[in-house]
Amino acid sequence: MGILGLFFAVFIACAAAAEFPFPLQEAHNVELTQDYDYIIVGGGATGCALAATLSENFRVLLLERGGSPYNNPLLMRVENFFLGFLDDGAQNFVTTEGVANARGRVLGGGSSINAGFWDRAPASEIAQLGLDPVKANTSYTWAENAIVSLPVLGPFQSAFHKGLVEVGVTPDLGATYEHFVGTKTGGSLYDSNGQRRPSSNLIAAYANATNLQVVLHATVTKVQFDDGLSKPTAIGVEFVDELGQIHAAFLKADERSEVILSASAIGTPHLLMMSGVGPAEHLKQKGIPVILDLPVGKNIADNPATRLYVPSMSPVEPALVQVAGITPFGSYIEALSGVQNLQGSVIFQKVVGPKSTGEVLIDSMDIRQNPSVTFNYYKDPEDLQICVGGLNVIEELLLSKSMTPFVNGMQAMPSGNILGLPIRKFYPKEMIDMALGAYCKANVGTMWHYHGSCRVGQVVDAQFKVLGTEQLRIVDGSVFDFCPGTNPQATFIMTGRYMGVEITSRRLTS
Ligand SMILES: Cc1cc2nc3c(=O)[nH]c(=O)nc-3n(C[C@H](O)[C@H](O)[C@H](O)COP(=O)(O)OP(=O)(O)OC[C@H]3O[C@@H](n4cnc5c(N)ncnc54)[C@H](O)[C@@H]3O)c2cc1C
Repeated sequence: MGILGLFFAVFIACAAAAEFPFPLQEAHNVELTQDYDYIIVGGGATGCALAATLSENFRVLLLERGGSPYNNPLLMRVENFFLGFLDDGAQNFVTTEGVANARGRVLGGGSSINAGFWDRAPASEIAQLGLDPVKANTSYTWAENAIVSLPVLGPFQSAFHKGLVEVGVTPDLGATYEHFVGTKTGGSLYDSNGQRRPSSNLIAAYANATNLQVVLHATVTKVQFDDGLSKPTAIGVEFVDELGQIHAAFLKADERSEVILSASAIGTPHLLMMSGVGPAEHLKQKGIPVILDLPVGKNIADNPATRLYVPSMSPVEPALVQVAGITPFGSYIEALSGVQNLQGSVIFQKVVGPKSTGEVLIDSMDIRQNPSVTFNYYKDPEDLQICVGGLNVIEELLLSKSMTPFVNGMQAMPSGNILGLPIRKFYPKEMIDMALGAYCKANVGTMWHYHGSCRVGQVVDAQFKVLGTEQLRIVDGSVFDFCPGTNPQATFIMTGRYMGVEITSRRLTS
């Protein structure tokens, strides 16, 4: 290599390294110090915010089963969104009812493979969570300052925003991170160059590098308990690296130290059950010694979503979700456009809540394999009614003046009506609703917003400590009994920061 080549190689290596200025360690050659105040399982959306915060004052070990998303264009570039599902950073699975879904398996978790849309939770939901609204606002802002911005809309997303307002999803809220009924342009994890800013960027922005050890390819297989005490007490974890070697990490001998599970609404109940905390009958069937009988994995929920592909007559810009129509009856309408050479858009509606719930059960005894997941989509008729309402709005939207350049005139609509022949208004409403209900069920999909598998009052207390145990807490989407905002990541990440601040201030003042 000539001098010039060497210069460029060094330059490129420095530029790449500068992308994530925080040391990441590999599980197979990690050196553990065994004096951790906190061991966090899962470096996902919530876990990274929590780790960055706790490291300001305490020794923290963050164990993530996946690798790094940095320097991986499949995960980091907006135009590659769909290709990201083919990367090792996504663990695909199919629910027992046959709906395709995916989990993040990479530093940043879901925030490294998701569509990036950022919407805070409304005040009513902050109250339902029992959080202080002022502290919640501060925690949202902490994350937003590092990883979120408002996008400049291209022609399609702009028409989509205007069209929603035209068909009555009002008021026009302009561009905001806040959540109100109406149509808004929301925040995005993607910057103006289409580069993703996963929640792991919060570590680079805020963590204390001398206190935080981030270990990749570390799949935690078990929480270790001391069950000789009055309550099962978490003392550490066991994890396996990508070479199959087993490691153990232990908390400092201090009753304030904790193992904190942030492995997602699927990963956290899965790990708890594999560790002996879960429904006793199910654990016995699987031959797992029962440490504690708790309804872990019960009541997991995923918000059903119905999509409609809309070919466009005009060029559309590549954009993931940037706009949301927030109806007063609980349907959220969003669209992505032009990604992966899509000559049009995918418009979808998501059902709030939902009311229908399911369960997570162990399938394989290898924790690296997916558990069995059931969501019982649309089991509750109220969920189906909301979908019907949302599709009615989408059909009106397709007939709106604003959207005319972006719909193919002869496309069939979910009700069976044909675009270009706007005869929808002559059909009896009951007939349209019946057809839309059938369409919702036949085309049920996910927006990947699963939550609620370890709910407050059932598995954890109001501080998210696992009931009947000591030194074990859950901070992730598992503890939510509804999906916050139109899309949850803003509130999950906010909760990571919020709980980090709470744990710190309680400990420093105790
Ligand atoms: C394709 C897709 C698109 C989405 N789009 C949006 C969107 O636009 N806006 C939005 O708000 N939300 C979106 N979401 C949802 C959002 O990303 C998730 O709700 C959020 O990431 C969940 O946060 P979490 O911290 O609970 O879990 P995750 O972010 O999933 O983090 C869990 C982490 O734990 C790790 N882990 C699991 N088990 C173990 C183990 N045993 N040992 C070690 N590590 C483990 C995982 O690898 C992962 O990194 C989307 C999700 C997906 C998958």
